[in-house]
Amino acid sequence: MKELKNLVAGEWRGSARTWDKISPFSGHVVARVHEAEKQMIDDAVAAGRAAAFGEWGTMPMRARVAIIRDFAQKLSARVDDLVEADMADTGRSRWQASTFDGKRATGLFEKYCELALTLENRSNNFEGEGGFQGVWLTQRRPKGVIACIAPWNVPLLMMSLKLAPALVMGNAAIAKPSEETPSSTTILAEVIAASEVPDGAFSLLHGFGRDSTGAWITEHPGVDAITFTGEPATGAAIMRTAATGLREVSMELGGKNPALVFEDVDMERAIEGGMRSAFFNTGQICFCTERVYVHRSRYDEYVDRMVGVADSIVMGEPERSGFSIGPLVSHSHREKVKSLVDTVVPEGGEILAGGRIPEFGDERDKGAFYCPTVAVGLDSDATMMREETFGPVMHVAPFDDEDEAIALANNSRYGLGAVIWSQNVARCLSLPPKLRVGHVWVNSWQIRDLSSPLAGVGISGVGEQFGVRSLEFCSQPQTITIRLD
Ligand code: NAD
Repeated sequence: MKELKNLVAGEWRGSARTWDKISPFSGHVVARVHEAEKQMIDDAVAAGRAAAFGEWGTMPMRARVAIIRDFAQKLSARVDDLVEADMADTGRSRWQASTFDGKRATGLFEKYCELALTLENRSNNFEGEGGFQGVWLTQRRPKGVIACIAPWNVPLLMMSLKLAPALVMGNAAIAKPSEETPSSTTILAEVIAASEVPDGAFSLLHGFGRDSTGAWITEHPGVDAITFTGEPATGAAIMRTAATGLREVSMELGGKNPALVFEDVDMERAIEGGMRSAFFNTGQICFCTERVYVHRSRYDEYVDRMVGVADSIVMGEPERSGFSIGPLVSHSHREKVKSLVDTVVPEGGEILAGGRIPEFGDERDKGAFYCPTVAVGLDSDATMMREETFGPVMHVAPFDDEDEAIALANNSRYGLGAVIWSQNVARCLSLPPKLRVGHVWVNSWQIRDLSSPLAGVGISGVGEQFGVRSLEFCSQPQTITIRLD
């Protein structure tokens, strides 16, 4: 059995407390994981501060970029292992793990190297009030030790989105992957340990959230900033902790994302795209569409076709290429999804597809599968219209005009993403400013340049992430002023 240990200041350290990571597909043990001890967190932070405020953090950007580029190449060479690891931890198909996770994640380090080299430092001449002449220049310095706390849904990509900007700006990164998906980040740590990145600049600490590694890292006074992706409630807990030390946080949180389907839609594309947006990764993407609003004139057609599509989605064929879905990440997550869907009928709704655990009659019955689900008939204040399911679940409702569609879409505490399906260009351009979300897709979903910025509205996020914004979060300006006369 694989033993996944912690990497602290270049040393692999086991612990007395371990847990078994179980495959949500087969129910088999994937690995035994060692929960970090508090001493390891102290040691990781101390080594991190020495690196970030020492040679690693002060070396010229080009030198650091060369080291990270070399690491990125070595990581790409392990892409097959990374894909296997995420498949084992999450049950997803090879096609999905390689196309949407493995390659994108390894490419991100190169992308952030490019971006960092184009970051411009600012300078200017000025005349002071006493008539003296001066010049100032501002350069970005590392923040110090950055805690990178990731969720389980796209494990390698989510972690890489945090590590790449943190490292390239000269910080020390402490990686805390989700307890559900420890494997791919451990491979990434193996590659970093064998690279020129100095030992203290990266640590991997395994463990859980509350009363465990996650909380201990965020409580540590030597941690300078926290970048977190996960549930809003966890984000709020981390913010409270960070506030005691006045430390900065950057957060990508959940979504209850709407899609608006107008009367002038290209229905073929809206069904295909809508199916992917709701069911891709078994609905476990923060941008997944969970609420669909369709113009009344096309509502019946949309619902009929989506029900047919949902019923025909292939489940549990990991070697199949193209769209199919795997299990949910764990049996406990399936229980959460199931309990939310179970509120639909008692609260006045109707389930037209799915709404149940599938019966395969083979080994897959051990997996945490849940059928793609289409529900209708709920009021906006129903439980399932308010709570993120993070499962393969969509609710469809009709609207009569644009104002009503906008009001329905905005009726949520979340504000992460939205999709507009319409062939009217004026509408596609005039609607986004009226939607209170961080990212609007038009006639598509999740086509994305990972360096374009994201800022979740409401309980969907704190601060801006990605691209230059992440480089800025992971650094701070320092101004030097020189008197010239
Ligand atoms: P989660 O909040 O349960 O856990 C996320 C991470 O935080 C894990 O590593 C966990 O161990 C850790 N953690 C939990 N409690 C903690 C605490 N008190 N202190 C410190 N760390 C703690 O989230 P999850 O279930 O892993 O992920 C699913 C959620 O993530 C969904 O809400 C989803 O929408 C969201 N998400 C958002 C985005 C985005 O870009 N906005 C992307 C992916 C996932």
